[in-house]
Amino acid sequence: MKSLLPLEIVGGGLAGLSAGLALSRAGVPVTVFEAGAYPRHRVCGEFIAGLDDRTAASLGMGEFLADARPHRSVTYHLRGRPMRPFALPAPAWGISRHALDARVARAFVSAGGILRTDTRVPEGETPPGRVFAAGRKRKGPFWVGLKVHVRNLALVNDFEVHLGDRAYVGLSNVETGAVNVCGIFAQRPLEPRGADLILSYLAASGLGALADRLRAAQVDPATFCVTAAPLGDRRVSGSDRVWIGDACASIPPFTGNGLAMALQGAALAVEPLRAYSSGRASWGESVRAIADSQRRRFGRRLLVASLLHPFFLEPRRQSVLAALVRFRLVPFRAFYAALH
Ligand SMILES: Cc1cc2nc3c(=O)[nH]c(=O)nc-3n(C[C@H](O)[C@H](O)[C@H](O)COP(=O)(O)OP(=O)(O)OC[C@H]3O[C@@H](n4cnc5c(N)ncnc54)[C@H](O)[C@@H]3O)c2cc1C
Repeated sequence: MKSLLPLEIVGGGLAGLSAGLALSRAGVPVTVFEAGAYPRHRVCGEFIAGLDDRTAASLGMGEFLADARPHRSVTYHLRGRPMRPFALPAPAWGISRHALDARVARAFVSAGGILRTDTRVPEGETPPGRVFAAGRKRKGPFWVGLKVHVRNLALVNDFEVHLGDRAYVGLSNVETGAVNVCGIFAQRPLEPRGADLILSYLAASGLGALADRLRAAQVDPATFCVTAAPLGDRRVSGSDRVWIGDACASIPPFTGNGLAMALQGAALAVEPLRAYSSGRASWGESVRAIADSQRRRFGRRLLVASLLHPFFLEPRRQSVLAALVRFRLVPFRAFYAALH
């Protein structure tokens, strides 16, 4: 039997691990290189919206999401004042990255994949067979992404979103029963380190009442993390190499769709990568096939998300959004369909 060409994946987030798992289960020799280690907390809303059954099934995700919390309804707040709640057209899933990434990593190794943690690969080298799943591009302008888990915090709905002054914050339960509090904020010169930083950012963004709710609950400092967060891409990356996940394109966080997109990009890449590994396609053909399929699948979604994003961040446009919601003029279903 002809031997299969090996593949390398740079980056062991959800995109890299899920692609690695599907390829390993199909018998392809794969090594994933991950700069960090597992388990680890990540800055993420941990709210998976728009994951279609076909993608989840093709990557075997069902077993990892078995205890994820289903979220069906959302309430937006503008500086503490709730707007009209609405139902999601399909449930979203609440699960911590701490659990999810580690579960997929374990399954990848069990399927015969080689996982090299604490190993950073130079991203300038692009030999055939190397896939880039290294996360968001490091290009600004950067905002601040903050997240922490909180216990004993009651929510008014499955998913609470709070719009502040150049800030928005999402709150929803994850599988541990804790509430994940995650936000994106314009940078401010604030002093405290650790979990108190999120309280300071909330207060400075006009969300002091939410900060008080967190103070009255039980903030878990071990789960706190911070990152530099760009505002998202308008287009997918070029076809000079295989990019998947945020490395291909990062969608603004308000959509809750980044993780589903990471999985969908991985699923789209599996067959062209198998074709290369088995000698049925050249590396160049596989690279182009993956880029084209992601452009078709994600192009419209990225454009719509980038046009809507300012309505979640800029005070004047937030007020417009709140007024449209009050008068039932926001076509939620149409936006959801365009964004997921
Ligand atoms: C504030 C915020 C909130 C968000 N909330 C949500 C949400 O609620 N729902 C949602 O679906 N999405 C959300 N997202 C987006 C989501 O986090 C990303 O879309 C998702 O993590 C992308 O997965 P990925 O595997 O492509 O990248 P990542 O998860 O970033 O993984 C990339 C991995 O590559 C590793 N790496 C990087 N460079 C190298 C290298 N040179 N060598 C080896 N390893 C390397 C990194 O250590 C990392 O583990 C949010 C993002 C932000 C910023």
